Amino acid sequence: MAEHFELDIHQYERVERIEGEDGNFQVYTADRLRCPRVYGAKKAIFATGYYDLPNRLNVPGECLTKVIYYYKEPHPYYNMDVAVIGAKNSAAIAALELHWSGARVTLIHRGEGIHSHVKYWIKPNIENRIKQGELKAYFRSQVVEILPDSIRIATPEGEISLKNDFVFAMIGYHPDTEFLGAHGIIIDAASGRPYTNPETLESSRRGIYLAGVIVAGMHTNEIFIENGRFHGEKIAAAIADSVRR
Ligand SMILES: Cc1cc2nc3c(=O)[nH]c(=O)nc-3n(C[C@H](O)[C@H](O)[C@H](O)COP(=O)(O)OP(=O)(O)OC[C@H]3O[C@@H](n4cnc5c(N)ncnc54)[C@H](O)[C@@H]3O)c2cc1C
Repeated sequence: MAEHFELDIHQYERVERIEGEDGNFQVYTADRLRCPRVYGAKKAIFATGYYDLPNRLNVPGECLTKVIYYYKEPHPYYNMDVAVIGAKNSAAIAALELHWSGARVTLIHRGEGIHSHVKYWIKPNIENRIKQGELKAYFRSQVVEILPDSIRIATPEGEISLKNDFVFAMIGYHPDTEFLGAHGIIIDAASGRPYTNPETLESSRRGIYLAGVIVAGMHTNEIFIENGRFHGEKIAAAIADSVRR
């Protein structure tokens, strides 16, 4: 697709800020070697997602290197005592794969059980592993401290301490609202959604459009691959229209 449309894509390059105004923006970036670059643009589209900023546990010890916010593969954790925090898809998948690869897994979640949104082929699988005692689960429980070789958990039966080598904090991610705010994009305080014109997806900053899951603000489960991909078409039509006028 990128080659077909001859898209000029700059991977591993971070947009630091955008200055200027509709029709004459300057885009300041840092490439993967941290070299600064500047580009001119008539319009800008922010499609920055939410996956770059993991939600934090806000407990002592969460900055230890053994606390992992992005699950990639299970094999390095063979024969290790691993805690998985959360009970949605990411937590369920990580817990199952770690268990199948020989880690001793404990799942901890503040809710009543595995979340109802977990994919229908994963939910019974993890629930049965818990029922069989292959995975230990603490529900209505919260990690209160992470130490180098253990964790403290507040459970309904009181506080316990477990031996622990690694913690997978699978508790979600959030959009970079600071980045939006710094560019004059107004965010509704009650819903957490950035303002966009529903017809054009132009934000409150003229000439800057929003696309993808960022349109839903904190409601990251409302827009996903199947519906977010239509934003491009809408924005392209709106830009073409504004250029024609
Ligand atoms: C674990 C997980 C599993 C999922 N599974 C599914 C699934 O099965 N089906 C489904 O439909 N959806 C799924 N989703 C949701 C789906 O990934 C998102 O809805 C979708 O990726 C959103 O697309 P996007 O283009 O808005 O943002 P993203 O795909 O997140 O892309 C945003 C990009 O912008 C980059 N970026 C951010 N800030 C800057 C900056 N300042 N400068 C330059 N680049 C920047 C980011 O690094 C990222 O590459 C899943 C999400 C997660 C986290």
